[in-house]
Amino acid sequence: MNWSRPLIPDAWAPAITALEPEALVRQGFRGLIVDLDNTLTGWNKDFAAPAVEGWLRRARAQGLGVCILSNNGAARVRAFADPAGLPSVAHAGKPRRAGYRRALALLGTSADETAVIGDQLWTDVLGARRMNMYAVLVQPVAPREFFGTRSLRWLERAWVARLKRRGLGLPFGA
Ligand SMILES: [Mg+2]
Repeated sequence: MNWSRPLIPDAWAPAITALEPEALVRQGFRGLIVDLDNTLTGWNKDFAAPAVEGWLRRARAQGLGVCILSNNGAARVRAFADPAGLPSVAHAGKPRRAGYRRALALLGTSADETAVIGDQLWTDVLGARRMNMYAVLVQPVAPREFFGTRSLRWLERAWVARLKRRGLGLPFGA
């Protein structure tokens, strides 16, 4: 991987629903590996907001495969993924690569035709970088979460602000 840019996403969006599935298809993507907590839903909420449900339907109508990749436990992840009809990988251990490889196998897509979407630089984006995959950072859905995650947020915000000032990787909004 390119170690000079381990924490720089390729794109940034205020929410997953701000991404255009049609645009992702035009960019050549066939699959999406999507984080669960604070990307698709608020922390430990096991249902999708109507806007997110609609977005998932739109993505699939465009032929995009969607696989959930989460560091959270299997019960939590399946409570969301199974009713939504989405394949999922729990206990993913992001930023380790094994979970991404499992998600790619479930999607049946290669790393270069699959985009990673998540709200955390240190897990979602760093893991995507290690896999040489396209990474989209989204603003977190809800602020309530583990203390450990919370304590990294100020760093993340400072980093994203710096990226924005430099005009890097922000084609979807900001
Ligand atoms: Mg998350």
